[in-house]
Amino acid sequence: MTFEDLGLSPEVLAAIAQAGYREPTPIQKQAIPVALQERDLLGGAQTGTGKTAAFVLPLIDILTGGKAKARMPRALILSPTRELAQQTLENFQIYAQNTDLDAALLIGGANMRQQEQALGGDIDILIATPGRLLDMVERGKLLMMGVKHLVIDEADRMLDMGFIPDVERICGMLPPLRHTLMFSATMPKEVRKLADRFLHNPKEVTVAPPASPAETVEQWLVAVGGDRDKGRALRELLGHETVTSSMVFTNRKRDVDSLHRSLRRHGFNAVRMQGDMAQREREVALAAFKDGEAAILVCTDVAGRGIDVFGVSHIFCFDVPVNAEDYVHRIGRTGRAGHRGRAYIFATPEDAKALQSVTRLIERDLPVAEVAGVKTAALPGIPSGPVAAPDGAGGTKPSRRRRRTKPDDKPRGEREAKRVVRDKDAARNGKAAPAAPGRPAPFGEGADVPAFLLRPTFADRDAGAR
Ligand code: AMP
Repeated sequence: MTFEDLGLSPEVLAAIAQAGYREPTPIQKQAIPVALQERDLLGGAQTGTGKTAAFVLPLIDILTGGKAKARMPRALILSPTRELAQQTLENFQIYAQNTDLDAALLIGGANMRQQEQALGGDIDILIATPGRLLDMVERGKLLMMGVKHLVIDEADRMLDMGFIPDVERICGMLPPLRHTLMFSATMPKEVRKLADRFLHNPKEVTVAPPASPAETVEQWLVAVGGDRDKGRALRELLGHETVTSSMVFTNRKRDVDSLHRSLRRHGFNAVRMQGDMAQREREVALAAFKDGEAAILVCTDVAGRGIDVFGVSHIFCFDVPVNAEDYVHRIGRTGRAGHRGRAYIFATPEDAKALQSVTRLIERDLPVAEVAGVKTAALPGIPSGPVAAPDGAGGTKPSRRRRRTKPDDKPRGEREAKRVVRDKDAARNGKAAPAAPGRPAPFGEGADVPAFLLRPTFADRDAGAR
């Protein structure tokens, strides 16, 4: 199926061709025709599946030709975070470049007066975070009765961030006769309830089983004795692997700051992002990361949410997330748009329970990565040895060496070799490190640009997953 088959206008088709998209992603194939018919939709799709285009492209075609007014948006896209809202606007600007539609952005932390002024111009689509939107409505700067199309993006994240009451209030302000699209990576019961209340006979489409991590992400566990070992293991992996661009997640804001300081002290080119930083500071950090000036972004879940940076090669979960779903969101920052990525989760014996929640959610054990110079610890209730690559949907990519091994000639644990990481300097200089003799080759080994970054299409991923 091509984009032409989906019923999009020539203007939109030209814009997506210019963006370099060759074929629609699975969520786009399913959602675009439904949205174009102005039917309500509940989309189960994680970040990295192309879900933004799945709602923005049809909205553009639906709104083209209509008349925009000041302070009265015709469509509203609700995003849980500023960064996601910003990125949605950036995507809109690409996709709507051949139309005269206008969008406005309302996000917390940004200058209120400037935003008020922006609302004075014609607005076809308003992209907003819930809190700032309600502020503006309460100040009488925004009228919601013209909103005929609503998108609730990343509804499960809205739930995690406590925004569901705000979303409900906003839905209550909109005309009851409207077109609503809701997207969520996971479908907890509160999200279902929201859908039952505000969506009318929605078509449901799901492109990956709820909570199943992206198929393109190779996942590993780094099991260590304590926090100091986590720092050492992180530096070892960052220094050695073919890390072109990586995000490091911590659970707390203050740990973002201390880890960022520590990495810089050790000579790593890292920037940081957490909710206490001023919006301007966050934008500077994100720009440095996006432009490739900084290879490492240390962030919290909230700050890192929705960041869409091409070619994030590695995700490091420096802490096991408190909510298991956050693991899925974290690793969704890599392996995007059909590219391959690698994720490591660091855990100490104290994290065993939280880690079990993660492995239960993703329905698999994670293979243990052994990091040179760092002792691997036993974690209670977690398989202590390396585990075999799961069948079916993605996960660990067998190395060339492993693929040659006959399935039954060794016990299961031994078949999956542990990864050993060494030769830090090679990678710090931007070179892929050589594989240790008898060990699986590092991902993308031997190339200055990791091989997975050279694979541009979803078709590659789909073919690989079959
Ligand atoms: P999203 O899931 O919306 O965050 O999109 C993830 C990434 O996929 C973004 O960088 C998009 O620009 C990209 N993308 C969206 N649709 C396509 C497509 N059909 N082909 C290639 N890349 C796409």
